[in-house]
Amino acid sequence: MSVEQAPVQRADFDQVMVPNYAPAAFIPVRGAGSRVWDQAGRELIDFAGGIAVNVLGHAHPALVGALTEQANKLWHVSNVFTNEPALRLAHKLVDATFADRAFFCNSGAEANEAAFKLARRVAHDRFGPEKHEIIATVNSFHGRTLFTVSVGGQPKYSDGFGPKITGISHVPYNDLEALKAQISDKTCAVVIEPIQGESGVVPADVAYLQGARELCDKHNALLIFDEVQTGVGRTGELFAYMHYGVTPDILSSAKSLGGGFPIGAMLTTEALAKHLTVGTHGTTYGGNPLACAVANAVLDVVNTPEVLAGVKAKHQKFKARLEQIGEKYGLFTQVRGVGLLIGCVLSEAWKGKAKDVFNAAEKEGLMVLQAGPDVVRFAPSLVIDDADIDEGLDRFERAAAKLTQG
Ligand SMILES: *Cc1c(COP(=O)(O)O)cnc(C)c1O
Repeated sequence: MSVEQAPVQRADFDQVMVPNYAPAAFIPVRGAGSRVWDQAGRELIDFAGGIAVNVLGHAHPALVGALTEQANKLWHVSNVFTNEPALRLAHKLVDATFADRAFFCNSGAEANEAAFKLARRVAHDRFGPEKHEIIATVNSFHGRTLFTVSVGGQPKYSDGFGPKITGISHVPYNDLEALKAQISDKTCAVVIEPIQGESGVVPADVAYLQGARELCDKHNALLIFDEVQTGVGRTGELFAYMHYGVTPDILSSAKSLGGGFPIGAMLTTEALAKHLTVGTHGTTYGGNPLACAVANAVLDVVNTPEVLAGVKAKHQKFKARLEQIGEKYGLFTQVRGVGLLIGCVLSEAWKGKAKDVFNAAEKEGLMVLQAGPDVVRFAPSLVIDDADIDEGLDRFERAAAKLTQG
């Protein structure tokens, strides 16, 4: 039974939506694998992946199957009751990682909010209220709630909303000496993105993460890895901490975890988790059966040697061709990133013009991302076909040619 829907178009956005986004001129209506179609039936290749979310592309049969099966069973019960998909998902995450315990929520910001609250609560319980300081990094991104923008290292996201959360400082990324100078016995947590995503796809140095781990241990501070963007196979390991061989105390996950269905998770150890006693934290939808059923299916597919090895192979394919394109057209000087989180650093002549590249790519039928004004970011499906990669990069090359020659 289908109900006749009123037609809508892009112009409606400016009439009825809060103007905090500036969406592209077309409206996607359907996707399959790494292809997307808009209202006019135009086909695009998706290298954006819903901002590093659609880890198995669009309408992956395993995810559609898991969601449909659960939709016919049970949608929601709240945390007054537990549910089977949530418990299965927690088992899977605990079995696959350093963690002993999982807390589920609905977004990356909420996963980080839980991580920061847990860190403060642990320090409060163990050492008293003085130990509450959080050290984060300059240009980091941790979400848009007041706590997470305050911890994030980009004042443009936290200015103008009244008093910020206090007890937070920011040190330059990948600068161990700066962290060493800032950390003290008042520090309750250090939070780091193993690869800074939003601010330009900047991978951490191994020695930096190792050093941060040592400093945290020395000062009884917790090490939090924000893996909202890097987690669930994106780097070719299940989580980026495995790629680096440095284990955090608390890890936040979201984005890829639900493959397009909203879910977040905070993972931690038994010894820390016990500080969030009954009633200390919560969320109505956290562990929702639909979200957890989908995330279970995501993990079943992603956490396999074939898919993870495929990510590393596809990285090489992207990198080789992108370096060629960058050189040929003088558009970018460096291709960086790990696995299928890739950033092209624009050359001096094109600095600040990532949006122009985005627009040029869109004209050729390709969806890409920016990571700040100076970096073009790619975060495609982890199972994107090699043929789609080749065709997408052909389109990207045409965009680069037109942009630089016209
Ligand atoms: C996207 C992102 C977030 C915020 O996630 P939301 O689901 O938008 O709240 C937090 N941290 C990092 C590293 C991210 O990339």
